[in-house]
Amino acid sequence: MSKVIVITGASSGIGEATAKLLAKNGAKLVLGARREAKLQQIVADIEAAGGTATYALTDVTDLASVQALAQVALDKFGRIDVWMNNAGLMPHSEFIKGKVADWNQMIDVNLRGVLYGIDAALPSMRAQKSGQFINVSSVAGHGVHAGGGVYSATKAGVLMISEALRQEEAAAKSNIRVTVVSPGAVATELVDHVTDQATKKALEGYYEQTAITPERVATSIAAAIDLPADAAINEIVIRPTSQG
Ligand code: NDP
Repeated sequence: MSKVIVITGASSGIGEATAKLLAKNGAKLVLGARREAKLQQIVADIEAAGGTATYALTDVTDLASVQALAQVALDKFGRIDVWMNNAGLMPHSEFIKGKVADWNQMIDVNLRGVLYGIDAALPSMRAQKSGQFINVSSVAGHGVHAGGGVYSATKAGVLMISEALRQEEAAAKSNIRVTVVSPGAVATELVDHVTDQATKKALEGYYEQTAITPERVATSIAAAIDLPADAAINEIVIRPTSQG
């Protein structure tokens, strides 16, 4: 059976690379993000390569929008085998800069968005007695550097939410797996959205030297999905070999 896989933040970076790889491997993809032209192009690329994909415009900060994304998967393909909570952003800055709007957006997308994804997909996974969440955290969820306080708080939160979900689903014997992905530096659009210019410049320099491609992360996620269902890879920490 080819799996039905929903990915949030599928319009670029890790989400796009993972969608394309999983579609190539035979999965049916449902892609969510806000930029329609990007999603249309990715669906067209997948279909041109012989794969199956559809998309729904999705804002993960809006519960109804995330529920609608789940409904597209259920209406079109009848089930949700994997839900990947991937949408996220990382506008680092020091607290003294007072970028409260950035803090709120990180909390809304990186944390609330993950919770909304769980809420949207868990009932149907429970009903079908199988499923898998792939929740994208970060190495920044395991530690913090100056300028990354809010981002690390959201990504550490993803780790805690995921572990609680894992324990709950194990106790319920629901056959639902939980996999956290904690990447190091990956060359995507992530740094483009940093609003503090000095921080952005420093990050761009670092990423130019260090980052791996999102396809590397996608390969590790595909392995966690392909593992037989009685075993779960609960966390993937994947860094550039040269990242300190
Ligand atoms: P990108 O900026 O390339 O991708 C981010 C994705 O999130 C885009 O598809 C964007 O789509 C989507 N997104 C942002 N806000 C929303 C929203 N409100 N609703 C729906 N989708 C949204 O970066 P990455 O691929 O790097 O990021 C993917 C994940 O990986 C993030 O959670 C990030 O924190 C994490 N990560 C990345 C690392 C890296 O070095 N790149 C390292 C560790 C973790 P759109 O704008 O179209 O809505």
